[in-house]
Amino acid sequence: MLRIAIQTKGRLNEQSIALLREIGIDVDGAKRKFLSKATNFPIEVLYLRDDDIPQVVANGTATLGIVGMNEVAERGCDVDIVSKLGFGGCRISLAIPKSEEYEGVEYFNGKRIATSYPNILEQFLSECGVKAQLEVISGSVEIAPAAGIADAIFDIVSSGGTLVSNGLKEVERVFESEAVLIANKNLSAEDRELLEELLFRIESERDSRDKKYLLMNIPTASLEEAVKILPAMRSPTVMPLAAEGWCSLHSVVDAAELWDKVRQLKAIGAEGILVLTLDKIIA
Ligand code: ATP
Ligand code: MG
Repeated sequence: MLRIAIQTKGRLNEQSIALLREIGIDVDGAKRKFLSKATNFPIEVLYLRDDDIPQVVANGTATLGIVGMNEVAERGCDVDIVSKLGFGGCRISLAIPKSEEYEGVEYFNGKRIATSYPNILEQFLSECGVKAQLEVISGSVEIAPAAGIADAIFDIVSSGGTLVSNGLKEVERVFESEAVLIANKNLSAEDRELLEELLFRIESERDSRDKKYLLMNIPTASLEEAVKILPAMRSPTVMPLAAEGWCSLHSVVDAAELWDKVRQLKAIGAEGILVLTLDKIIA
């Protein structure tokens, strides 16, 4: 039986539950429950503060966890990072009052920097040979310069709006983060097999996200050219139409290339083009 730790509430909660549901695990999102068992997969969900997730996975209280890479790195816990999940994207950056001149990281020598991520910051500063004083605070880091607690901050940034509204500017992007699936390092053979199954499902889900299913009618004379435009997973599916000289062509394309492909296909006579969203791709 697997036990996966996810955030009780906060920025990663909803997407963690959504991910489990998308891969067919029926989770009870009722937040008051501390531990809940899925009915259709041998897994139970443990709801925790994100700060605690790396540690419970490292010590085996949970076998798996979904948490920001920033928390894993900050806590220095010994866990396997098994998959990046593509949500919860953010970075941890150094920011200073916007009126200050900035020419390089030496700026921070002798400065006081407020942060909730002292370990990641210390490692960065020591790699740069900079000596600064860290003021560790657990929240509202962005107000520290205005409050006179520090000269600069090292904090999570996503859009940068919070920095601007506090009169700060981002000067060094230090750490890129997103939500990751982590696993205990000593899984039993049985748990490892269950994890493989989860990973297989997560990958199928992720692969389908940036693909589209395309179907169209095309003159048989243009078929060869159309196949060159649409490589597909193996090769496109071709079916004859009742109307002579026409066939139906089905294929899967990268969403990013969709409009370019459609333009090329129209140019060789494709008609009745349908674009469908995919639910899963099972390779
Ligand atoms: P908890 O109560 O569980 O300790 P928290 O307040 O520490 O929650 P949240 O603000 O919910 O944490 O953020 C959880 C994670 O979401 C962060 O650790 C980070 O990986 C990610 N994240 C993405 N964008 C942002 C953002 N703009 N600000 C903060 N965290 C972000
Ligand atoms: Mg937290």
